[in-house]
Amino acid sequence: MKCSRKQVGPNGEVLCYCGKQAILWTSWKEEDPSKRLYGCKVEGCPFELLKDSPMCYRSKMVIPELHNGVELLEVELLELMFMVEFLSEKVKKLQRREMMLQMRVQILLYWG
Ligand SMILES: [Zn+2]
Repeated sequence: MKCSRKQVGPNGEVLCYCGKQAILWTSWKEEDPSKRLYGCKVEGCPFELLKDSPMCYRSKMVIPELHNGVELLEVELLELMFMVEFLSEKVKKLQRREMMLQMRVQILLYWG
């Protein structure tokens, strides 16, 4: 149910027709990327209210590209975090090995 008037609660929150506080969500559909809508928490409630005014053509073209870029960067970040974790484990192993070797050198130097 799309509506043009919004009902507002005592603290300025947007209310659904069923009286619950509406939740704000973002649509990433290609035809209207990053469009923000109010919806209802109650399952099956058809309440839907547009928060933003319609987007210009340029924004409709640019925003999906930026959004895709963000998703690619998030994947790259996850890969890098995994690699950092792997390499820190390797560094710890090498530090332990170095310590053991230094101890052996000390023992050899001491006992001849
Ligand atoms: Zn509702």
